[in-house]
Parts: sequence; C-alpha cells; structure tokens
Amino acid sequence: MASNFQTEFPLNPIILERVTNLNAQHADLVHCPICNHILWKPVTCSLCENSFCYQCIQKWLFEQQEQIIEYIYNNNENDYLIKSLSLTRCPFNCSPYQERKCPPLLTSILSKLTIECRNKSYGCQEILFYEQLEKHEEEFCQYKIIRCPGCKQDMFKSIFDKDEHLLNCLYIELECKKCQSIFKRKDKHSEFDCMQQQIYLLKKNMITLEQKSSKIFDIQRKKIDILDEKFDIIEDIYGHDDDTDDHDDQHKNKTINSIRMLTHLFSFQIMGKSQIIITIGFIIFIIFILLI
Ligand SMILES: [Zn+2]
Ligand SMILES: [Zn+2]
Ligand SMILES: [Zn+2]
Ligand SMILES: [Zn+2]
Ligand SMILES: [Zn+2]
Repeated sequence: MASNFQTEFPLNPIILERVTNLNAQHADLVHCPICNHILWKPVTCSLCENSFCYQCIQKWLFEQQEQIIEYIYNNNENDYLIKSLSLTRCPFNCSPYQERKCPPLLTSILSKLTIECRNKSYGCQEILFYEQLEKHEEEFCQYKIIRCPGCKQDMFKSIFDKDEHLLNCLYIELECKKCQSIFKRKDKHSEFDCMQQQIYLLKKNMITLEQKSSKIFDIQRKKIDILDEKFDIIEDIYGHDDDTDDHDDQHKNKTINSIRMLTHLFSFQIMGKSQIIITIGFIIFIIFILLI
C-alpha cells in the first residue's frame, strides 16, 4: 500500500540504513507509511492508530484537498457529494481524519534508536540517539554544509566558523548607520557618497513634512469657514433685532466679533476632541448670555 502514496520527504529523511540498532520486531512500528523512512516527529490517526511523520501527513492532507478542489471544479458536482468529498481521509481511508499524540510506547521505542549523522558521507562519525539527532545536525555538526549569504559558496561549518567567514567575506551586505545605504563590503562607501545620501534623505523628509503640514492647514481652513457661516447665522438672528436698543446691538456685535477672532486663533492649532468640545461649550454659553 505504501508505494501508492510515497511522497518526497521535505527534510533529510532518516533512511532505515542509518539506524545502527534497529530491531527487526520494531522495524514496521517505526517506519512511516507515507515516506517509508523512520518516523520523524510522528502523530497518530485516532481511528486506525497508524502513525505518520507530522510533515508527511500534513503534505498528504494538503494534496488530498487540492485533488478534491480540482475534482469539484471540473465536475460541477452537487452539494452532497462535495460535503462527502471534503472529509479528509488518512492514508488508510479513515474519515474524517482525526489526529492524536503518538502513543508513549512508540515514543519510547523511537527514543532508543541510535542513528548515524546525515553528514556521514562528508566525514562525520557521530552516532546519536533519536532525540539528540536534530540538535547535532543543525547546531553542532562540524561537517554541516553552510551556504554563505554573501558569496553563496558552500563550505563546512568548521571552516565557516574557524575563518570567521561572515566577518571577512567581501560580498556580505553592510548597512551604513548614518545614511541607511546598503552596500557590499568590497564596494567602498566614501564620506562623499555618505553625505550625498544624507542630503537626499533630508530633502525627502522635508517634502513629506511640507505635504503633511499643507494638508493640516487645509483642514483648519475648512473648519474656520464652517464656523464663520455659523456666526453669520447668529448675527442674522441677533444683529438686526428692532426691539433692542443701539447700545445692546453694539455690545452683541462686539462679543460675536471677539468670539470669531478667538475661534480663528484656536483653529490654527491642531484641535483635539476635548478642545473642540470646550470651544463648542464656550460658544453655547455666549449665545445663552446674549439670549438673557
Ligand atoms: Zn514520513
Ligand atoms: Zn487512519
Ligand atoms: Zn555530524
Ligand atoms: Zn562569503
Ligand atoms: Zn553612509
């Protein structure tokens, strides 16, 4: 059955031959039916109890979903069929697939396996327990191949570390703290280039600031226009009342003009919500005084 759904393992697989103490009794238990190698970070189907590498089953489910979507797209099927097809299946056809933690017995068997380092062909002679393997291969193995991010050369970790390659590689990209330019170590970044770039950045910032401040000015201008209109209405109502005497009219007009001036002054500040509320409250208070 396994050969029907063999998929490429995304990381370095632990092939059976790398295990130095594999008991024939356990061989079936510790192998993944999807990739056919030793189980890596396994999970288990809660219905059939078969275990799979976590990455293998994820890939399996993803591919299954893709096939279902393609089938539905091509066949324009009805809702019932879509629902039944949408249920995910484990490689042994359990549906819907439900995952659970790997059984403790299997974890225990795996933890006792001793495995050759994946870099054996480059010269590493280490044999490690299952749980130590990843740390050794990723962090400690001196035969790990590292690709320099600058010159893109592959080299052993031992040489990479010993020569402090990152500190010396001419193709590593550096960033100038003063002008934020990015350049390769081999290319010179002169004082003149640096100054030019700094001036360019300053100009760019100034333009942005100018644009921002002109927008704020426009908003404030609109606010003033709206307030002006409101004051005109107030003037129309109270400025031409025939029953009041001239002295009262003058007093009211003066007050309105003072408020208008104050409002103009306030409006050129950036108004927060609280300032707007205080201003409106103040205007209502003045209108109230005028009404008495
Ligand atoms: Zn697998
Ligand atoms: Zn199953
Ligand atoms: Zn190694
Ligand atoms: Zn390099
Ligand atoms: Zn610079």
